[in-house]
Amino acid sequence: MSTNTIVSQSTPYGFSAIAIIRLSGKQALSIASKLSNNKVSLKHQKQTKRAVIVNNKKIDVGLYTAFLSPRSYTGEDVVEISCHGNIHVCEAIIKECQALGARLAEPGEYTKRAFLNGKINLLQAEAVAQLISAKSIEAVEQQTKNISGGITKKIKNVKDLLLSCLAHIEYELDVSEEPTIPKKTKDGIKNDLLFSLKEIELLKTSFKTGSVFSSGIKIVFIGKPNVGKSTLANKILGVEKSITNKTPGTTRDLVFTETTIEGVPTTFVDTAGIHDTKNEIEAEGIKRSLTEIKASDIIVSLFCHNLEVVDIKELKQEIFVYNKEDVKPYSGTNKNVFSVSAINNTGVKHLMKHIKKRVGLLKKNSAEPLITTIRQKDSIDKIHTTISVACNLFNENNQETELVAHELRRSISHIDLFTGKTTTNDILDRVFSNFCVGK
Ligand code: GDP
Repeated sequence: MSTNTIVSQSTPYGFSAIAIIRLSGKQALSIASKLSNNKVSLKHQKQTKRAVIVNNKKIDVGLYTAFLSPRSYTGEDVVEISCHGNIHVCEAIIKECQALGARLAEPGEYTKRAFLNGKINLLQAEAVAQLISAKSIEAVEQQTKNISGGITKKIKNVKDLLLSCLAHIEYELDVSEEPTIPKKTKDGIKNDLLFSLKEIELLKTSFKTGSVFSSGIKIVFIGKPNVGKSTLANKILGVEKSITNKTPGTTRDLVFTETTIEGVPTTFVDTAGIHDTKNEIEAEGIKRSLTEIKASDIIVSLFCHNLEVVDIKELKQEIFVYNKEDVKPYSGTNKNVFSVSAINNTGVKHLMKHIKKRVGLLKKNSAEPLITTIRQKDSIDKIHTTISVACNLFNENNQETELVAHELRRSISHIDLFTGKTTTNDILDRVFSNFCVGK
């Protein structure tokens, strides 16, 4: 790891009441001392008001806070300088720190240093990035749980169990040529393996809920042109985003609107009306609609007195909405159809209640720790496979004991990669490239 002292602005670029410039590394204290022209040592977690001097001119007065190694975010000496949030002030401070020996921090470098210095593990580092970009307060809560070690505790418990199973098996392999594990030990191992498998299965399935919070969900509105998709979507969202018009085919491209439903970041997708068309632009819009439909979590399928439901083979569990009940009331017998008049706002609240219920189902079990990144999911899949193989081999007969031990060793090394106890440059690049500069 590079031991250079790094500097960057931790607050967003622009004009604001206050901005924070952060220094981390061996020279952080000496650079801060030169920047303020004050030799009195900064004390741990104590704020001191000092001048900010650039090119021998006082350009601001800031609050300097030191966090002394190892009791800082990065584990190194850290100084945070709160100054006025003016871009020229911030730029001048950063340039001066560079002139005094610091270099600009790369994205996520503070958190990477925290990880490399053993202050946090990889799961916690990922949770920091996800917390910063969280799109709802529930997503924030989830990531705060992960930063405090929610998943780490669960996986540590599994690792301890696997290590204990491995120790028993290795002992038997050591003491006898043909290991016959005593029944009591064997039952214990079997129970521990099954329990571990269950715990990993829970984490594996938690990805679906986890991604509901991290990436959010998509609700797609489909139906023939002019059935009232845009009008209904707008009514639900309370904003006029899609252009509504009497001419069929107005929504030629997709209209995406972000909102939050039940704490879940939600994208509403108003699609191009699906029908046969020779118009190339419209056809492209319909093609894109079909792609969105495949990637959606909830589909709202509209029809009305003179426009039928669109029939798409892949669709399952759509919410059927009969629109324009003001023109002609719904006369069908399907109890699962929601009858509305988007234009008059009748039946829309009832429909919304149902959509919220569906969203609620998507986020079930959110009280448990959830895995939220593809990297975590890939790792958990590998841990799951190795433990299941170990379980199956162990169930069969004693002759496979060496193979069981081999699978357990593989599971443990996948767990270490999952938490970041062992890692590769590839994994680190993958994790820290998602960060912003200054974190
Ligand atoms: P889209 O092509 O499916 O997005 O349809 P629009 O939302 O653009 O609506 C097409 C036309 O139907 C517009 O003139 C709307 O004002 C009208 N419309 C939409 N919903 C209703 C409704 O509930 N009742 C009536 N009478 N007209 C509606």
